Amino acid sequence: MKSTKPPGPLKQLRVIIAVIALLNVVVVGWLLLRNPKGEQNGSLSRAMDSLMADHSMESARYDLSDMASDLNVVLISMDALRWDRTGISGNEKGLTPSLDAFADEAVVFHAAVTAAPWTLPSHMSVWTARWPSVHGVTNKLRLLSQDQLVPTQLSPGIQTFPDLLILNGWTAGAFTGGAGVQASYGFGRNFDAYLDDRYFAGMDYSIPAALEWLEQNRDKRFFLFLHGYDSHGQYPLAESSLEEIAADYHGNLDGSVKEQARLRELGLKAIGNPGDSPDLTGVLDEEDTRFLREIYDRKVRDADQRVGSFLAKFRAMGLLDHSLVAIMSDHGDELMEHGSIDHGATLYEEQLHVVMMIRFPGYARRQDIQTPVRLLDLFPTVFDALGLEQPPGVDGKSLLPLLRGQEMDLPVFSETDYRLYVHQRMTRRGSLKLILDLADGEKQLFDLEKDSGEQKDISSSDPRSTYELEQNLRAWMDKTRTNPQDYLGIHQKPITLF
Ligand SMILES: [Zn+2]
Repeated sequence: MKSTKPPGPLKQLRVIIAVIALLNVVVVGWLLLRNPKGEQNGSLSRAMDSLMADHSMESARYDLSDMASDLNVVLISMDALRWDRTGISGNEKGLTPSLDAFADEAVVFHAAVTAAPWTLPSHMSVWTARWPSVHGVTNKLRLLSQDQLVPTQLSPGIQTFPDLLILNGWTAGAFTGGAGVQASYGFGRNFDAYLDDRYFAGMDYSIPAALEWLEQNRDKRFFLFLHGYDSHGQYPLAESSLEEIAADYHGNLDGSVKEQARLRELGLKAIGNPGDSPDLTGVLDEEDTRFLREIYDRKVRDADQRVGSFLAKFRAMGLLDHSLVAIMSDHGDELMEHGSIDHGATLYEEQLHVVMMIRFPGYARRQDIQTPVRLLDLFPTVFDALGLEQPPGVDGKSLLPLLRGQEMDLPVFSETDYRLYVHQRMTRRGSLKLILDLADGEKQLFDLEKDSGEQKDISSSDPRSTYELEQNLRAWMDKTRTNPQDYLGIHQKPITLF
């Protein structure tokens, strides 16, 4: 029997829901038409992401091969910038507004790990997508015999990604702060221009030269490497900023570059026996630490401002949407989290957790990746996006599958033979992290989820995980031809060139 009753409350509700759903479709459709590139607004981008999550779109994402013949590549390296100082990491001090704004249009890797905690081996791992012990540029000097040290240079047999870009027709210019990224180590192969004539220069030096070069080369397809030591201990903070910070400080430090070097060396001197850590705990008190952290933070703020002004000019030149732009840091810096300052001599997160972001033109929107990745995956990812062939035998992997929603479980390692003085290796599995000191065989295990500051070594309470991670580490060392026996009990003075 046909019902003639008026619609009940349930039916009315259904009609209301249907109308709301229809309105939603109309509004989102209107937004899509209004802003087809979806480049301005993060939340709109995310709305579009979910709308476009069909499989044909997934595979097209980040594929720039059609544009590659006309696409520039830009790599910006902010030396010694800690991940935890950026706004994207959740830091609320507002030190990095430019990076945070860049992140709105980029893939942000929240758990990027450097292969080495200092400039030369870290950058060379980016250049070659190989582990430091594989590319072999682990120090500025290498031991030829008992007392003979010779300058290190990348083996001609190892191809670098920038050189491959050049061979594929890109014109390359590098504008750097020198020191650990000097061309002579193997970074500068076939570059059209390579600025590296100062030791520990900041971007206040490298950016003007880069902009001048860009003016002359903007009509070519270029690879630009921009680098500066702005956050580094060996880069001086502006006098006026230092005075401002010093006004609130009651201690004996002056915050100079010279003093920083002296403290760093003093920390290393505490390494009395092979396997010891650098130690300044009796030298610096809490007030000193606060002072040094303030200086560091101010440097980060300056570095961010400089990168921001560069990016604004780059955008104003009309180059941004014809360029794939990556921003990285090569390592962080310790500020007494583990009893010392500076970087290179330990493998804790304040040094290993780095900034890594990639802005893909034509698909410039925020995507947050929480999966642990390696900084040395950067160029393989860029090459995959450009449709370029990877050189054989590299350790890095393209992260595009991850960006397209697939899972990737990448083995994470890091290593240091800092100044031929400390010899440590690190690996991770999930939230567990093992650090092995090759000089005395000591192991430390941390659970980064429960103890992100790595203050509680749980190796003795979790011997099984410690054993398993150590086996992974030893298998990897075997592959990279590192013989742990070579380092046991090793003890010599740190080489002075670094
Ligand atoms: Zn560095």
